[in-house]
Amino acid sequence: MQRLIREFQLYYRDRARMIFAPEVEKREFMFMGFDDVVRRYISFKSLDSLRTYMADIVPRHAYYSVGLYKRPEMRKMEQRGFEGAEVLFDIDATGLEGCSYDLYFCEECSHEQQKEMQRCPSCGSERIKKMDWLDEACIRAAKAEVKKLLKILREDFGLGNDGILVSYTGNRGFHVRILAKEFLKLGKEERAEIAGYISARGFDYEVFSSAGGYKFPKPDEGGWRGRFSRALISVLRENKMDEIARDIEEGKTIERGFMRKRRWILEKAVSRMKEEAATVDEAVTFDIQRLTRVPNSLHGKTGLRAMTLTYDELDEFDPFTDAVGLSDSPVKVRITRKVPRFSINGLVFGPYSRDEVLELPAYAAALIVLRERGKAEI
Ligand SMILES: [Zn+2]
Repeated sequence: MQRLIREFQLYYRDRARMIFAPEVEKREFMFMGFDDVVRRYISFKSLDSLRTYMADIVPRHAYYSVGLYKRPEMRKMEQRGFEGAEVLFDIDATGLEGCSYDLYFCEECSHEQQKEMQRCPSCGSERIKKMDWLDEACIRAAKAEVKKLLKILREDFGLGNDGILVSYTGNRGFHVRILAKEFLKLGKEERAEIAGYISARGFDYEVFSSAGGYKFPKPDEGGWRGRFSRALISVLRENKMDEIARDIEEGKTIERGFMRKRRWILEKAVSRMKEEAATVDEAVTFDIQRLTRVPNSLHGKTGLRAMTLTYDELDEFDPFTDAVGLSDSPVKVRITRKVPRFSINGLVFGPYSRDEVLELPAYAAALIVLRERGKAEI
């Protein structure tokens, strides 16, 4: 590991000027070292002192608060002089379609397999470690969620691209923050409500029904109301019920019995509507004391850079070329667990199996070692 820590150190020394944090003097910082020491409640008066500090301690992970404080170094919230917090959305690829675990490992006897297991077929242990890799499919899945989230923030909250900041975490996800001033002071409940809204949680089409029948929203209405009606109309048309579709477009009430007998249409419309909802970790958005990664710091599980992106950059963004932070100087690696084939910095590596010893560019070696699939020699 020493060899890789030295690579991190070179990065923070040579590329220190890329490190930044907006309104640095109002943020709380947290660092996790390669020695597993956690340094919290740290603040900096300037970007220069932040950069010097990071080059000095060489963090494995570097975070700062979405909250803005008068005295960010104070431990107790009530002493900090809270000025507000950016609303944060966390999108993680794990669990999204096309992105799951790729390796199951028995911590008792080291048996590993690609097929999911609850119990080790070799020794019977239930101490199974699920491991994931970082691949294009995961990034693609996460990006799709980010785009859905940005669309909702734009259409339903009236936020322009300059009120929103998108960051790649350096691993399997993205953070999206609302920077617009009027959102800074929102309380926890309001944040929870926004997160619930984004994921269309609790949507119930029965709110459109009354004794007289179903009166659905007009398809050009804003928010989930309009999205639901558009989904409903498309489902009706697909099933040759154009007349009902037209009635909804014209704002006519639909007979209750007719709709109730065709509940599957309503259900299908809900699931189609929900394809436009974004999967965000609601517990993150709720929390005004959350931390996000320092822009251009390295992620300790990949060696890739956390980086901020503009809306236009998001489509083309490829972390395996754009977020490579470490050098190509050779690092000797002994493979300890199966490594899938991967490409980074325009080169293709792997697949590798246990006990292979290779010399790899530092950025490729880091991905293997930091994901616990190999050990760096020396
Ligand atoms: Zn076992």
